[in-house]
Amino acid sequence: MSEKAGLRSFELIDPPVLSRFTVDRSEPLRLDSARQLECWPKARVLVVDERGRTPMREGAGGEWELVTRPATDFGPAPSPEAALLGEQDGVAYWAVRGRPSLIDGDDPSQWYDLRTMGGKLDATGAGLFTTAVAVLGWQAAGGFCANCGHATERRNAGWATHCPNCGREEYPRTDPAVICLVHDGGTGGSAQVLLARQPVWPPGRYSVLAGFVEAGESLEACVMREIEEEVGIVVSDVRYLGSQAWPFPRSLMIGFSAVGDPSVPLRPAEGEISEAFWITRDELRQGLVDEDWESPGDAGGRVLLPPSISIARSMLDAWAALD
Ligand SMILES: [Zn+2]
Repeated sequence: MSEKAGLRSFELIDPPVLSRFTVDRSEPLRLDSARQLECWPKARVLVVDERGRTPMREGAGGEWELVTRPATDFGPAPSPEAALLGEQDGVAYWAVRGRPSLIDGDDPSQWYDLRTMGGKLDATGAGLFTTAVAVLGWQAAGGFCANCGHATERRNAGWATHCPNCGREEYPRTDPAVICLVHDGGTGGSAQVLLARQPVWPPGRYSVLAGFVEAGESLEACVMREIEEEVGIVVSDVRYLGSQAWPFPRSLMIGFSAVGDPSVPLRPAEGEISEAFWITRDELRQGLVDEDWESPGDAGGRVLLPPSISIARSMLDAWAALD
C-alpha cells in the first residue's frame, strides 16, 4: 500500500433509490383484522402484474407516481391474497396481483416495472412498489409447505403462511448478497477503483464486485472471499456503506467498501469475471458524465456504468465525489 494512502472509508451521498421508504410498515395492523376492515374503505391498492409491472403517471414536478386504486373496487374486505404494505397519513396501502383491464380505462402502456422506473418514482412510490414486488414475489413462489408439501394458507395480511397439516409457519425470505467497491485508499484524482465485468452482462457493462452470502458466513468474510475468488486479491478495511432491497427475485444488496493494492496482479476467475481493471477517480468521473466514454480496459469500446437504480451506482457516485 502506498505511503500517501489516506482514505480507508467513505459514505454514500444519498440512500440508494429503492431504499427510500416513507410508509409505516405497521406490523400491528397486519395482525389486527378488525382494524384492517375498519381502514378498508379509505385504503388504496397497488396492482402488480405477473411481469412485475404497475400503473404509473408523471406528476407535475416531473417525478413519477404510482396509480393506486380504491380498495373498495376489490370487494368489501381485503382478500387473503392481498398483502398489506403499510400505512401513511391514515391510509393503508395494499398490494395484489392483477393485470391491466381495458374495461375501466387502464392503458397497458402506462404499466412499468421497478427496474425501469424505480429511480423515477417519488420516495413513497419507490418504497411501496419495492415492497409490493418483494412480498408478492414471495407469495407466488411459496404456495406449498416446505416441510410436508401441503398447500399453505396466508396469514398476517399476506406476510406469513401457515400449513394446516403440520403447523409450519413461514415468512418472506430474503437472500443477502454483498457488493463491494474496492479502492486503493488513495486521495485525489489519481486514486484508483476496481471495475469488473461478468461474461453474462451486456457488452461494455462494468461494475463493482458482488456475490451471495453463503450459509454460516458473515458479511465481512463474504466480502473478503468473493473478491479473492473473483479477482485474486486480498482486501482490508471492509466498511459498511448501505443496503438496498433488490427483489429480482429476493435479494438484499449489502454495500461495502474495501481497500486493495493495485500493484498486485488481478486474476479474474474463469467463467465468472471476463475482465477486471483499475481506473482512476478522474477516469471514473469522466465515465459517469460521458456516455461515449471509451473503456480504459483491454476490451476497449464504450463503457456502460451501472444504472442509477442500483446500489453499485450509488457507491461509485459517492467514491467519485471524494476529494
Ligand atoms: Zn406442512
